Amino acid sequence: MVRLPPSGRPLRHLGGLPLGLLSGLLLCSLLGLLLVVTSCAPRRASVGSMASEAAPRSKSIRREAPAQATHSHLRLPAQVTVELSGLRGADEVRWRGPDGRPGLAELIGSGVFLNGAASPSPARVRGPVTIEDRTYDGILLIMPCPEGGLEARVQLGLEAYVEGVVASETSIWSATSAELEAQAIAARTYAAATLRQRSENGAPALLADGVMDQAFGGRHTPGSSARAREVADRLTRAVQATRGFVLMRGDRFEEARYHAACGGHTSNFSDVFRKEHRERNAAGPTGVPCSSCARRAARESSQGAPDEKRPLGWIEELSPSSLARIGRVFGLPGAPRRIGPARTDAGGRWLDVALEANDGTVKRIPFEELRRAAGYGVLRSGAVVATVPAPSDPLLGGGWRAQGKGRGHGVGLCQEGARDLGRAGWSSAAILAHYYPGATLARHDGGAPPDRSVLDRHSKAEAAQAAAPMTLASAADR
Ligand SMILES: [Zn+2]
Repeated sequence: MVRLPPSGRPLRHLGGLPLGLLSGLLLCSLLGLLLVVTSCAPRRASVGSMASEAAPRSKSIRREAPAQATHSHLRLPAQVTVELSGLRGADEVRWRGPDGRPGLAELIGSGVFLNGAASPSPARVRGPVTIEDRTYDGILLIMPCPEGGLEARVQLGLEAYVEGVVASETSIWSATSAELEAQAIAARTYAAATLRQRSENGAPALLADGVMDQAFGGRHTPGSSARAREVADRLTRAVQATRGFVLMRGDRFEEARYHAACGGHTSNFSDVFRKEHRERNAAGPTGVPCSSCARRAARESSQGAPDEKRPLGWIEELSPSSLARIGRVFGLPGAPRRIGPARTDAGGRWLDVALEANDGTVKRIPFEELRRAAGYGVLRSGAVVATVPAPSDPLLGGGWRAQGKGRGHGVGLCQEGARDLGRAGWSSAAILAHYYPGATLARHDGGAPPDRSVLDRHSKAEAAQAAAPMTLASAADR
């Protein structure tokens, strides 16, 4: 629900634009959103402008010899274990086996019982298993959860996991092969780097199946139509074409973060993930312009409202009760009295936020922590354009409204941008070179040297075919 700001409360800008202009833009956006939410006649999004995005001839990512795979710390895991977060704490876990036969795991006392019989922990069920509408290959592991109830994990091959992530993170029905390949390499690199870091820190070598790591909804199961099978084949081919490929930065796996939409410019890893940058001395991608998002931001600004099909702008309000909860999360004696940016990057993205308590104390926290506390789907990005009240004004017990653009943390590959670059004929290697400047592409599964033509090809035919109406990316906001 979008509401207009209360009368008599001026909107003030946060960046370098004149107050009156931004106030006007915000008001236009609010009015535009009202029109959008009350309109029943959707318009089709135009993508014609992206067709003129020339595929770069010189932009190519440097490749490393596969010999590096001999270093044990760079070997890709053959298997990964993924926690099924939706089942954490469940009283029971039900599934169907490949023959459709039902299975049941229950916690009785402190032990796991499989179909009524006591089982060693973790209980192991050979897959594929279908839980609700998700089918998981590999082995289902079920064990007591430390906080009570059960928890479930799936242990499966890395490449099957990558294919499941790409299916969950990408709108595969309208994706080009280049977009799918770029996403597969980013997902594989993220998994390898994250598991490596967790094992070094003594943490369980586990990946979450949601926004804390990568979305993973199990195996992609296509419908029976020819188009559905074609889409599934394209997904499988993209993952197979990139098998074993990862991004490297020096002698480490790249910090292959990615996000749904940057808003016009991606951000520096070292700024947004400052803690990781400091603790691990980890370098990562620096921010780059994203022509796709920049064009859309300009279009939304001129039309005064977010695009209906692929909205980049957003407005959300945190209620007084949400603010009180956030205050508790960060140790404030109640809801914050003022909220404002404590540190921004060159593009204006909020990196740290200052929460001022009623007693005047100020808590400064990374904006990503505020996003996590408020909900990643609420504060969709740190690219905050304006707030009501303004940072200098007190909340006076009311809510806090933020207007921003983009979705996610803004680091690394911009999924919306990668989509448009793929449609414009860029290869997966060129897309990755753009969003991870300075990274190299290497094959680390000990397999044959890469077929260089695979990742560099430009899929002109696909780009032309993709000049259809775009659909909203299904990627999780992160
Ligand atoms: Zn972007």
